[in-house]
Amino acid sequence: MFKSAVFNLQEATKDQVQEFLNSFDTVLTDCDGVLWIENNAIQGSADTMNYLRKLGKKIFYVTNNSTKIRSDFAAKAQQLGFIASQDEILSTAYLVAHYLKGIGFTKKVYLLGSNGIGEELKAVGIRHIGVGPDPVKPDFKNMQPSELDPEVGAVVVGFDEHVSYPKFMKAACYLSSEECLFVATNTDERFPKSGSIVVPGTGTLVRAVETCSERKALVLGKPHAYVRKFLESCGLNPARTLMIGDRCNTDIELGVRCGFQTLLVLSGVTSSKELDAIRNEKKAPLPDVVLPKLGDLLSLVPS
Ligand SMILES: [Mg+2]
Repeated sequence: MFKSAVFNLQEATKDQVQEFLNSFDTVLTDCDGVLWIENNAIQGSADTMNYLRKLGKKIFYVTNNSTKIRSDFAAKAQQLGFIASQDEILSTAYLVAHYLKGIGFTKKVYLLGSNGIGEELKAVGIRHIGVGPDPVKPDFKNMQPSELDPEVGAVVVGFDEHVSYPKFMKAACYLSSEECLFVATNTDERFPKSGSIVVPGTGTLVRAVETCSERKALVLGKPHAYVRKFLESCGLNPARTLMIGDRCNTDIELGVRCGFQTLLVLSGVTSSKELDAIRNEKKAPLPDVVLPKLGDLLSLVPS
């Protein structure tokens, strides 16, 4: 509805803001970097999401984070002031379980990931091993075939704070069998974080396993095809759906690929400097509209 890409919503007239609010029925929002950072809500985000709900918008929380089950996500959202139910959460841990169950997978999963995926797998009756520390022993290169579980039929890579060399070895050994499936939750480079500390994201682990296994993972999260098909199967009308995110190469890319409207907020990963670079170099799709943070939308709403 706005003539140029990356329209700063703060420069819109009251009528344009009203027209924008009227232009979608469904809101898909990313979580980390849009609604909260770690355990702190970003100022105004909860009020804005709850306001959109009050307007009758259908809400889905779409996150690449694989460390929690959906009910934990809903509980976290509620604790931070967001109205949310489990059915509105679409996380990559859930997508992994949904995908494997959907293809009739009955073997065991070697999980380079956390309990979030483990619990979602358990909920659909899929067994898994690998969660938790697997420390390096002095003779770590002399791993024996007996240390591998012959029932493993898939390697799943998500976020794993206990990532270790033996885990990479095991993942690569399982993947040396062509029949072994290779699934990853997402390829995000880093977590949103302010200041000079960089927290490597799941993409770091996925690339490491891809390198040592000499294979490519099927990636389920944003912006890849599986989450897209899943969202499309929810019966959304793409032209009347708004995707909100803090990353151009996942959230906005997904929105553009699906034909949704897109709103980028600069409270997470993509900074305004990076947005300028993306605009100049056309490195990733550009959002339709941009705001410093989601909470700024409320102050623009015509009274
Ligand atoms: Mg994010």
